[in-house]
Amino acid sequence: MLNDLYRKVVMDHAKFKRNYGKLEGEEVQRVFYKNPTCGDVITLYLKLEGEVLTSVSFEGEGCSISMASSSMMTELIHHKDLRTVSIIRGEFEQLIREGKQPNDHVDLGDALSLDGVHKLRARHNCALMAWQALDKALHDVESYKS
Ligand code: ZN
Repeated sequence: MLNDLYRKVVMDHAKFKRNYGKLEGEEVQRVFYKNPTCGDVITLYLKLEGEVLTSVSFEGEGCSISMASSSMMTELIHHKDLRTVSIIRGEFEQLIREGKQPNDHVDLGDALSLDGVHKLRARHNCALMAWQALDKALHDVESYKS
């Protein structure tokens, strides 16, 4: 299970969601994604300028893990270029699916506090939902996939 310190960080993000709300504007991409396992939903808003995510926000409903993870993801990817985002995404997925700690040069920020989710197999999709929404938004962008 999640230890106490990590649980506090997760509950804080679930309660006080960072970057929560709509983004308006013509260049804003909007994707909806539903986690089939738990019924969590997210709408992710992104603004990509060149290779950099200059604005990120989300709206959603669901369990604490899914909402905390969405909040943490927006903090991690805001103002980052797509190569970096792709690397962070890969490290986070390994943390959840395999329980593997990230490489030293990759900072997962508060998302590191979700590492206990690795042992809760039924919740993997909750932790990864926001990232799957991001994949959906960026599925045809070359520098994100590589
Ligand atoms: Zn969930």
